[in-house]
Amino acid sequence: MHLPGTWLERFAADERHSTPRAGFDIGEAVAAYDRLLKAFQGRVRIQYAVKARPDHALLTALVRRGSGLDVVAPQEIEQALRAGCAPRHMSCSNAFADRQELTHARIRGVTTFTADSSDMIERIANVCPHSAVFIRIAQENLTQAAIPIAGRFGCQEDEAPELALLAVRRGLKVAGLTWHVGSQQRDPTQWEQALERAARIVRRTDHHGVTVHHLNLGGGMPATYRASTPSVETYASVILAAVDRHFPRHRQPRLIIEPGRALVADAGITTASVKAVVGRPWGTYVILDVGMWNAGLLDNLCGIEYRITFPGHPSGCATQPVTFCGPTCDPLDCLTATTPYRAPVALATGDRVVIWSTGAYCSTSALAGFNGYPPLPQHVHAPPP
Ligand SMILES: *Cc1c(COP(=O)(O)O)cnc(C)c1O
Repeated sequence: MHLPGTWLERFAADERHSTPRAGFDIGEAVAAYDRLLKAFQGRVRIQYAVKARPDHALLTALVRRGSGLDVVAPQEIEQALRAGCAPRHMSCSNAFADRQELTHARIRGVTTFTADSSDMIERIANVCPHSAVFIRIAQENLTQAAIPIAGRFGCQEDEAPELALLAVRRGLKVAGLTWHVGSQQRDPTQWEQALERAARIVRRTDHHGVTVHHLNLGGGMPATYRASTPSVETYASVILAAVDRHFPRHRQPRLIIEPGRALVADAGITTASVKAVVGRPWGTYVILDVGMWNAGLLDNLCGIEYRITFPGHPSGCATQPVTFCGPTCDPLDCLTATTPYRAPVALATGDRVVIWSTGAYCSTSALAGFNGYPPLPQHVHAPPP
C-alpha cells in the first residue's frame, strides 16, 4: 500500500506504534547533501561532521555519495572506516588530541589534522610525522549562532602565519585554514568576516613562501527549527561571493564545508504522547513521554527550539501558551522557549505530539537511563539505493 507524503510525514501520522519513538530517513539526509552541493555549485567538498549523528547506514550512504568525514575520537575513526571511508577522506578536527589519540589515528591511516597552538603542532609532528594540518582560526562575534563554538578553539589572526611556518619547519604540510562560525548560525554574513581574515592570513603566509591550499569553512549551516533562517542557497551565494571578493579566481584555495546539523537534523523526527496537562497558577505544563534526557533534546539548553505539532488537532484550533516537559523529575527536563510554545486548548492525556528536526545531536545526547527512562528507540529508514 502506498500512502501519500514523505516517509517522515507517514512516520509522524502512524498511530499504530506506541510512543516515544524516533525516526530518521537517510533519503532526506542524502537529499540535503545533494542540495547543499548544488547550492555551492559544486565548488566545495563536503566533509560530514560525524558527531551530529554517527549511524552506520547513514555514514555508508554519505560516503557512497562522495562525502568525506570529519572525525574526532578514535571511535569515530573506527565508525568512518567501517562505513567505507578512505582515511585520506577523513579529517581529524580534534584540536586537543592527545598522544594516544594521535597514535591511533596514524595507525588507522589518517593524515589530516587540526591545530591551533604550537603545542599541538609539535605533538602532531612527533606522533604523525609528514601529515597535513589545518590551522584553526578563532571566530569572534558569534552572536547569531544558536550554539557558539568559541572560547577554547582557534588561534588569533596574528598567530596563524607563525603556526603555519612552525608546521613547515617541523616537516608537516599546511593543508589550509579552518574555523567554525557557530552551530545553527542564523546569519550567513558571519562567513564574510572569516573569509576576509583568512585572505589576510593567506597573503602573509604567501609572503613567507607557504601556500594555503584549502579553506575549511566549517559547519554552522542551519536546519529548520522554530526561528526562521535564510535558505541554504542564500548561505551558499553569500559565502561564494565573499570567496570571489577576497581571493582572485585563478588563485583560489579549494573549499571544504563540514556540515553536521544541516545534513541530518531535518531528516529526524520524534513522536510523543501527552502524559498529563497540568494547570498551575503560573502556567500550563504539558508532560510528554519524551524530554531532554530520553530524547537527547539537549541543544534546547543552548537555544535550539524544535518545531512541535499536534496531529490530532486541526491547525486553526484555539491554543494557549504552555511549557513542554519530559517524563523525568529533573528541573532541566523542560523545553525552554524565547516565545512560549502554544498548544491546543483541547490537548489531553494520550494525544499525539510530534517534534520535528530531531535528527542532529539527539541520538548521541540521550542519557542511558535517567530516572529509568531509556533512550528512545531509533527507527532508521534506508530507501533503496
Ligand atoms: C561540530 C562541528 C561541525 C559541525 O557543525 P554543525 O553546526 O552541526 O554544522 C563541523 N566542524 C567542526 C570542527 C565541529 O566541531
